[in-house]
Amino acid sequence: MNSVDFSHLNLQPALLENLRSLNYIEMTPIQAQSLPLILAGADVIAQGQTGSGKTAAFGLGMLQKLAVQSYWVQQLVICPTRELADQVAKEIRRLARAIHNIKVLTLCGGMPFGPQIGSLEHGAHIVVGTPGRIEEHARKGNLKLDKVDTLVLDEADRMLEMGFQESLDAIIENIPARRQTLLFSATYPPQIKSIAERVMQQPEFVKVASTHDTNSIDQRFYKITTQDERMQALRLLLAAFEHESALIFCNTKAETRDIVEFLVGFGFSVVALNGDMEQKDRDRTLVLFANKSTAIMVATDVAARGLDVDDLDLVINYQVAKDPEVHTHRVGRTGRAGSKGIACSLFSDNEAHRLAQLELTIDPILETTKLPDRRLLNNAPASPAMTTIQIDGGKKQKLRPGDILGALTGTDGIDGKQVGKIHMFPNSAFVAVDKHSVKKALTKLGTDKMKGRKFRVRHVRD
Ligand code: AMP
Repeated sequence: MNSVDFSHLNLQPALLENLRSLNYIEMTPIQAQSLPLILAGADVIAQGQTGSGKTAAFGLGMLQKLAVQSYWVQQLVICPTRELADQVAKEIRRLARAIHNIKVLTLCGGMPFGPQIGSLEHGAHIVVGTPGRIEEHARKGNLKLDKVDTLVLDEADRMLEMGFQESLDAIIENIPARRQTLLFSATYPPQIKSIAERVMQQPEFVKVASTHDTNSIDQRFYKITTQDERMQALRLLLAAFEHESALIFCNTKAETRDIVEFLVGFGFSVVALNGDMEQKDRDRTLVLFANKSTAIMVATDVAARGLDVDDLDLVINYQVAKDPEVHTHRVGRTGRAGSKGIACSLFSDNEAHRLAQLELTIDPILETTKLPDRRLLNNAPASPAMTTIQIDGGKKQKLRPGDILGALTGTDGIDGKQVGKIHMFPNSAFVAVDKHSVKKALTKLGTDKMKGRKFRVRHVRD
């Protein structure tokens, strides 16, 4: 038995059995370092990022000590964004599959308030949510925190960056001091140190080096001189590197809009993701990008947090990130799961010092590459192979992905190979189809009954 095998830990048999069925055999480095401490009841600060397996590290610690028969909120996980909260709740539910009746509730901003009150009245063991909404429910007395014995602050650095310090303080004030506090953060700036000192007791510190498989990510650096050249360089890189899904990082919301406007003008399939968007638009944008109906997304670091799209083939840094950890995090979004990825960074003389900092962490030493041939600009951008159909019915109408797939591929329908990802929401569903089959798919979905009734469908254009 390997010392990093989960079976080495003193976990409940049901949890271990479930881990085996999930094919989690060996612990990831962050799990191997933090889980024994977490299981021993210590407060732990763990520095590691999304993709490191951190959710299972705190999730298993939580589930091991949860008392299912006590029907009150015992554990609270606070995350910076709804996407991350949803992802975390999903992973905890997966880990909890073998234990019956564990109730995990998400409480996030941007979602209707009323139904959350109803869910809270029904009771929950674990609440996962975003700071503002949790605080509001706590303040209005809907959420009782006086029996919480485990608090997890996930991506704590982002929460502080997004200005959630006050909400966090207000929430933590209502949680008993006798508790276990776990703090996860990709970076460890002084503000995190200070919050840790205030809310944690003799925390243990665990750090996992944020390295990538250098074989799977091809990093390139391009020097530019003017702002205009930066925009043109973006066009060139997009033309030079074939991509189904490309993510462009920039520093401000205004920049996301400028870049999108510029690229749309040249016929690229591109959308912006920034903090100003309404939840509905944000959901739609993310779906179109994740299902490959939109090829390029332009985002700020904050907006892209928790983004659950893992097969990006191209990442472009419009500027070099201020912090090497952030750079590593951005770049690590490509080349996942053994696939090959390309990460391009544009920099000017003003950013040269950031490059020098990066050189301390990147191996091999970075080299500057020449921009691709300008003649590439004469080629029209490729358009995505997929397009999206929205169905005005979702989980609440008991519609399931299987119903949609069934209707699409039934008699006179389209081939299963022409159907892409299906995303379900409470009152709607989005399905990606090959763009050459969209007419047929629309007719089929518009005339066939699903769950005994017809639903309105429409073609979503970005
Ligand atoms: P996270 O960093 O928590 O977002 O986890 C990244 C991914 O790794 C998730 O899809 C997990 O399901 C998966 N994962 C976490 N721990 C393990 C493990 N020990 N073995 C295999 N997969 C894992």
